[in-house]
Amino acid sequence: RAKHDGRGELRFFDQSLDEAARRRRRIETDLRVAIRTGQFKLNFQPIVASDGEVIKGFEALLRWPHPDHGLIPPVEFIPIAEETGLITQIGEWVLHEACRVAAGWPEHVRVAVNVSPLQFRSPGFGSIVLQALAISGLAPNRLEIEITESVFLDGETGVLQILHMLRALGVRVALDDFGTGYSSLSYLRSFPFDKIKIDRSFITNIAHDASAAAIVKAIVDLATALHMETTAEGVENAGQHAELQAQGCSTLQGFLFSKPLDEMSTRKIIDTPRSARAA
Ligand code: C2E
Ligand code: MG
Ligand code: MG
Ligand code: MG
Repeated sequence: RAKHDGRGELRFFDQSLDEAARRRRRIETDLRVAIRTGQFKLNFQPIVASDGEVIKGFEALLRWPHPDHGLIPPVEFIPIAEETGLITQIGEWVLHEACRVAAGWPEHVRVAVNVSPLQFRSPGFGSIVLQALAISGLAPNRLEIEITESVFLDGETGVLQILHMLRALGVRVALDDFGTGYSSLSYLRSFPFDKIKIDRSFITNIAHDASAAAIVKAIVDLATALHMETTAEGVENAGQHAELQAQGCSTLQGFLFSKPLDEMSTRKIIDTPRSARAA
């Protein structure tokens, strides 16, 4: 509820809330159309070895080219898709599409797929993963599911069951945006993730800020001790790359190496010899 400060602020606040609400409803309606008419696309951002060259995999990133409003960023529509439950259907498409594309890559190249808490906890999730693997023919260990710790917010028990089910299938699991939540460490004790993705906010200042560097070092050492891989997110410059390499971070992702690419460009970047590839 908006507070009245006695100077007409209430009306102003109400109006902008109203506008925001209208925009949300509009996006919700348009999301339903987008699902029905197949407007979504996936981009794929390379995840490279610490040398910055060998491609270990790609992260699938959802794109919505809206017919009237142009590209709508995921940060804008994914929260609405989550609130309305539409994310479950959208996420099912993402899994199928990501597995289909990855099945065309060489066998050592993996695909990482972001899964929202609602989708992860939905009853059909396990069978949807199985179906996506079966239809695409992708080997389970080439699929990596990325979840954030927000998936645990409504309790751990059900989530751990799903994690162990994925593990039993041979699918990998990564903990995304590590360090941004409230109790990341406790989740590391609950489940042996295959990978920790260190949030971009820690990488940004790593080359200039001693405490940022110390935190990343601690995360890398912790992951190593727990036999988990690490990916640094949002690597944008050579200084960050050098620091992460020195710290033993196993894989890297960011604009320094490549922006997210469409399906065709992934084929090209995989096929281009490293020496001939511009960063
Ligand atoms: P995320 O999973 O942490 O994905 C990484 C985000 O960082 C992507 O933003 C990527 O484009 C961006 N990024 C990569 N390298 C750099 C860099 O060097 N600098 C900067 N500034 N940014 C970089 P994007 O594609 O806008 O996605 C944002 C978020 O939306 C993702 O964060 C993820 O949480 C969510 N998302 C994206 N696709 C999906 C999806 O298919 N399903 C679900 N549930 N969520 C998705
Ligand atoms: Mg991610
Ligand atoms: Mg992330
Ligand atoms: Mg992030």
